[in-house]
Amino acid sequence: MSLLAVGTLAYDDVYTPYGEVKMIEAGSCTYIAMAATHFVQPVQLVSVIGGDYNDDFLADLKKRGSDLEGVEVVKDGKSFYWAGRYHDDMMGRDTLDTQLNVLADFDPKVPESYQKAPYVMLGNLTPAVQSRVLDQMAERPKLTALDTMNFWMDNALDDLKAVLKRIDVLIINDEEARQLSGELSLLKAAAKIVEMGPRILVIKKGEHGALLFEGENLFSAPALLLPKVVDPTGAGDTFAGGMIGYLAATDDLSFENLKRAVIHGSAMASFVVEDFGTRRMQTLDQEQIDRRVQRFGQLMTVSL
Ligand code: AMP
Repeated sequence: MSLLAVGTLAYDDVYTPYGEVKMIEAGSCTYIAMAATHFVQPVQLVSVIGGDYNDDFLADLKKRGSDLEGVEVVKDGKSFYWAGRYHDDMMGRDTLDTQLNVLADFDPKVPESYQKAPYVMLGNLTPAVQSRVLDQMAERPKLTALDTMNFWMDNALDDLKAVLKRIDVLIINDEEARQLSGELSLLKAAAKIVEMGPRILVIKKGEHGALLFEGENLFSAPALLLPKVVDPTGAGDTFAGGMIGYLAATDDLSFENLKRAVIHGSAMASFVVEDFGTRRMQTLDQEQIDRRVQRFGQLMTVSL
């Protein structure tokens, strides 16, 4: 089962209490691909970069199972750039700078070989671009998931609401769920968000795990306590990539399997935060993933 993933291929500057990195290859599409290719290949990427993007990094993404046919290169343009600083608690962060650069005029072209992808992950980027990708699908995908952030709620709310009507799964964090719904209670927020379109909702709660809603079904996934979180950037995208990658690989949309997918997403996110940028994802192997998924299983076992 192929998976189509849209998002940014970015350069980031990241400052955390453990140090800082500058101009590292990152972005929502990168993190989604690095996680999802552990479960399903190819992951067909739709994104845009400037002539400044690192060819070796792109070659590595390809080697790991990403298809780059849908990545547009604007030779004389600059790639999307984001800078952020984390608070001491490693949960809160301030965006220091967002430069859309080539993303500002991006009109995605979905290659013909992608147009029948049964699974689609609309990673965090301009909501109008997310819609334009769906416009070009030859048939309605079996499952379309979307990730977004407060930046787009502040800057493109109408476009965001329009694309929400066309998706199956929304993956956002608790703060974003409250902003989108105007509700403080996550239960009330979930009810309002489901009315906006997605029938399945995942609300991530950082170091406190994640909630999965589908109709009357609710699942609360635990979070793994880690000895050291070095850089939380990309945790959300990695979660999404792991979750949808797992669903695409198993091709089972039952609630039980959605729960398993949330656990696989959580496991992938627990790795990416262990080092700056995508460094930890570069060395990750299947055995490590399996072991961590088992640890989640142990966290959830109780006899009552
Ligand atoms: P996360 O920590 O999961 O929110 O993802 C952070 C990644 O998203 C970074 O690598 C950024 O380059 C990228 N990013 C930050 N802001 C945006 C935005 N407004 N649209 C798309 N991608 C973004």
